Amino acid sequence: MNHNDLPVPDDAGISSPASIESLRAQIDLINDDLIRLISRRAELAAEIGHVKTLEGRPHHYDPAREERQLKYIEEVNPGPFSAAALKSIFKEIFRASLDLEEANDKKQLLVSRKVQSADTVLNIKGVRIGGDAPPIMIAGPCSIEGEEMLEATASFLEGKGVRILRGGAYKPRTSPYGFQGMGIDGLILGAGAAREHNMLFVTEVMDTRDVEVVSEYADILQVGARNMHNFALLREVGRSGMPVLLKRGFAATIEEWLYAAEYILAEGNKQVMLCERGIRTFEKWTRNTLDLSAVALAKQETHLPVLVDVTHAAGRRDLLIPLAKAALAVGADGLHVEVHPSPATALSDNEQQLDFAGYEAFETALKPLMGVVSAKS
Ligand code: PEP
Ligand code: MN
Repeated sequence: MNHNDLPVPDDAGISSPASIESLRAQIDLINDDLIRLISRRAELAAEIGHVKTLEGRPHHYDPAREERQLKYIEEVNPGPFSAAALKSIFKEIFRASLDLEEANDKKQLLVSRKVQSADTVLNIKGVRIGGDAPPIMIAGPCSIEGEEMLEATASFLEGKGVRILRGGAYKPRTSPYGFQGMGIDGLILGAGAAREHNMLFVTEVMDTRDVEVVSEYADILQVGARNMHNFALLREVGRSGMPVLLKRGFAATIEEWLYAAEYILAEGNKQVMLCERGIRTFEKWTRNTLDLSAVALAKQETHLPVLVDVTHAAGRRDLLIPLAKAALAVGADGLHVEVHPSPATALSDNEQQLDFAGYEAFETALKPLMGVVSAKS
């Protein structure tokens, strides 16, 4: 027992309850000092967090630095706390400081609702996406394969009220020997068909060197799942000032997806739509696993419109209607679906594209939900 813990005898040699009061008064003063010091320490930790963010170091946890501090604490520990007890107190302080560093870091993200609480609503040539706008439909072939098939698809989709035509001109294919897209000829066809049918044209850009030419023809630049981590491309589409449809990488965490969007916003471009398109899991009966919690979370954490690509998520036609309904139910601002006049002969993704009859059924099933804005809030 430490001598400080011994009861202090009064004049009659009997321990006095007043001494407990006085000891407690001393403890209260020490508590004040601790609170002041701990708060000062927290302020410094938050400052360090900010500097790390500015230096582009999103990972704030530094185990080596913690290790050094714990070793020092053990060395200088005067007791009566054991080294383990003192270290566990400091570990709590480290944890709270790290939480603070990271929370502050997130608070400063431009994509975050903490920076902008109101929904971002894109207005692209009169087509509104996000916020109080009704859910939007993006539809069209996986790849632009020629004038005839594109014209037929655009004309059909226009008749169904679709305002955004998709179609790949530069295709990210698993095999270098697969159809790579029509390139600039595809861009010309896509822009022409969209204009002809009073639609916007969205198409993927895969290379920083193509951002300029794709921007000439497209209304919206798509960054595909495989390029979500291509930071040079993210910066370049950010600089272009064009509206961007940012797919989530199939092995990207929600945090990485939001940081990818941050790259675009950091270049001064706020016209970003997030698009969940399924992530790779151990499941084999679907091509990917549609992550609807990511949609709900992205809606909660960011002010950006969040869309759901049901086609690439499922990789099979028979699940598109229920997945699309579920996406709208969790608050998606729009859907993305591939439609081709003859999916069986398509040059890419022929397992998953809808033919016109399939789209009719899809549209009929979804129609009652597409106008319901309240489902988003
Ligand atoms: C696409 O939409 O054409 C595409 C390739 O999708 P993802 O990048 O999501 O695989
Ligand atoms: Mn596709």
